[in-house]
Amino acid sequence: MIRPVPHVLDMSPYALADLSPPKGKKLISLSQNESFRAPSPHAIAAGSEALASAHLYPDPDWSALRAALAEIHEIPESGILCGNGSMELIECLMQAYASPDLAVLAPDHVYPFFRTAARMARARFDSAPETDCTVSIDALLQAVQPDTGIVCIANPANPTGTRIPRSELTRLREGLPGHVLLIIDEAYGEFADLLNETTFDMVERGNTVILRTFSKAYGLAGMRAGWGLFPTDVASQIRKVMNPNNLSVASQAAALAAVLDQTYMRETCALTSALRGSFSDRLRASGFDVLESFTNFVLIRFDTAGAAHSADLALQSEGMFLRPQGGVGLSHCLRATVGDHEGMDKAAKLLERWAGEGT
Ligand SMILES: *Cc1c(COP(=O)(O)O)cnc(C)c1O
Repeated sequence: MIRPVPHVLDMSPYALADLSPPKGKKLISLSQNESFRAPSPHAIAAGSEALASAHLYPDPDWSALRAALAEIHEIPESGILCGNGSMELIECLMQAYASPDLAVLAPDHVYPFFRTAARMARARFDSAPETDCTVSIDALLQAVQPDTGIVCIANPANPTGTRIPRSELTRLREGLPGHVLLIIDEAYGEFADLLNETTFDMVERGNTVILRTFSKAYGLAGMRAGWGLFPTDVASQIRKVMNPNNLSVASQAAALAAVLDQTYMRETCALTSALRGSFSDRLRASGFDVLESFTNFVLIRFDTAGAAHSADLALQSEGMFLRPQGGVGLSHCLRATVGDHEGMDKAAKLLERWAGEGT
């Protein structure tokens, strides 16, 4: 038998959603935090047009896309790197800055791909407790070890949907040793941008990275495009371990057109927030515990893991898929992506029916 290296042999497969509806039931997936609506028509057109030049390799510097991001966010173009999804950027960061001698520290319920990527770098993965499903800066600072090389958080966070204010992020950065790389994953940043608490200036400190993605508010999950703002020397190290042709011509063109259509993206955020608000209010009125969210999903907390599982099965039997959260220590919770009005109405109805049955 051909044997893989030991740390790969030990890994379990990355758990993506299992989406097979029962026979005769239409699949409604509220499980992957995809946007409830198609991307901007401009992005669709630009991505399609770009296929005409698909015989050529893509621009390895993502020049047009970076220039647009730099202008919109008022950040230096030279610090921007684009990834095949922000997952690629996370993976590259771990490859370059984590190792068996440089451990990774994250809050308890952090986005699980951080753990997978740390594993691939053979780094130890330490966790710090959260307070009521919210990142605790004090707990993180207390958990720093002499060999901690990276601290990563998502803000707003996935799967909890909670966020911490900019002042707390500053306190985290100031409390960490200067040699620790802080990764702030803002995959849902656009949903919170209205709060006007930008963090991009933190990158100037030289030891902080901000990650963003086109997969959520821009509705381009299928194009695989993410980006981040990096200190210059971190960016040059990451470049070495990155696939130099990572973003297809279609992805670059679609992402560029999406950035240039800020109106559409902001409208997506506003519509998402309205759908999220009415879904949350309705469930709370029926006695469910729904965490306040700053993202395109909500976390529903049940009394027990058994109750969450039972509700999940009841929904699945009707073709409705939320996301169980046992993998991040929240087995009493289900995460529901904000879908369209019809999807949210059906999810609420099924949950209410389940609760009424007193399961
Ligand atoms: C969805 C998500 C990502 C992955 O984004 P891609 O750009 O699609 O790779 C990264 N981080 C968090 C916290 C996410 O929820």
